[in-house]
Amino acid sequence: MKRELLMIPGPVMCTPSVLGEISRPVVSHVSSEFIEVFGDSLRKLKQVFMTESGEVFVVAGSGTLAMEMALVNVCEPGDNVLILSNGLFGERFREICMRHKLNADYQQAEKPGSCVSISKVEEKIEGKEYKAVTVTHVDTSTSVKAPVKELGGIIRKTNAVFIVDGVCATAGEEERMDNWGIDVLLTASQKAIGVPPGLALLAFSEKAVEIYGERKNPVDSYFLDTQNWRNVMDSYMNGKPSYFATPPVNLIFALNTSLTEILREGLEERFKRHALIAQAFREAVKSMGLNIVPFKEEYAANTVTAIYYPEGVEDKVFRSEMRREGVIVAGGLGPLKGRTFRVGHMGNVNPSDIIATISAVERALLKTGCQVTLGQGLEAAQRVLKEL
Ligand code: PMP
Repeated sequence: MKRELLMIPGPVMCTPSVLGEISRPVVSHVSSEFIEVFGDSLRKLKQVFMTESGEVFVVAGSGTLAMEMALVNVCEPGDNVLILSNGLFGERFREICMRHKLNADYQQAEKPGSCVSISKVEEKIEGKEYKAVTVTHVDTSTSVKAPVKELGGIIRKTNAVFIVDGVCATAGEEERMDNWGIDVLLTASQKAIGVPPGLALLAFSEKAVEIYGERKNPVDSYFLDTQNWRNVMDSYMNGKPSYFATPPVNLIFALNTSLTEILREGLEERFKRHALIAQAFREAVKSMGLNIVPFKEEYAANTVTAIYYPEGVEDKVFRSEMRREGVIVAGGLGPLKGRTFRVGHMGNVNPSDIIATISAVERALLKTGCQVTLGQGLEAAQRVLKEL
């Protein structure tokens, strides 16, 4: 068997215990065994989202489905939505708004690598009444991290519902739903949550649920209407089965196992591990003379890093060299396609994974004709990693 290190920004490598759940015999969704596991995973998800009062939902689907579920339950056609975008995934919120006839006010970062400023957000929300404000915590295309805590502090003073896309952040970046005033937190299973793709995970705050209660029109999607799911989630949490649409039982077993592992590590420890490994990686690439996409260290995410290629390096050639070295990294997205590569460092990533990745980057760059001193990136990373 060929062993490969999957260092893309999702899907990520899963632990053997999580993978084992996928191949376990399928059980009934109303069996006592499943009822217990689903109930447990919902309770654990609340801990990982750092919410006590939020209502959690686990639905078959991906991150995009979770984004749409967030918007359609909070907004009705004609509502104003402010979208704060630091890359391609902010843009996706705009497309969903257009599809559902919401008035999207699209505020884009000045250029790839920058972040919409707090003063710009203040100016926007002073000038208009918004039903919702969306932000992508980590935009996976630029590896820019938004200041979610500060944004929550501003938005909680308005009537707007604060929707945070945590697909590339939750369980890796510090993210505190209740404390930071997040009203809808959404993510997917395949990134820092450490489960194969297939689950959309969301939580709605009391404010978001209240707004739902004031709707004039039904949600314009049958599958995504939280009203259809609420009873299911409540029942399982109370030890009883309930049916709306068949849950993906094996994925939910896997989710429960992964959430147990996440909570066993502890969220604070997990945030620290992600921060240190990310810093080690950034120091390494910088010491090799490469530039990362985020302009400022404070914008740089701890789950993924997008790096500009040095002049003359071809994306295809570099990434196939990396593959030959046994390390899979991702190419650029949108306007950064062909000019950048992206390394995911989230979930179960450990110091040895990042060291192996850096060493492969050094060799691949050398083979593609770059001037690289072997070991230079490794040394910079080691200096950071010794703090772990
Ligand atoms: N938001 C972000 C920040 C993402 O990185 C992604 C996927 N890369 C999505 C949303 C969409 O998720 P999915 O591909 O699971 O639909």
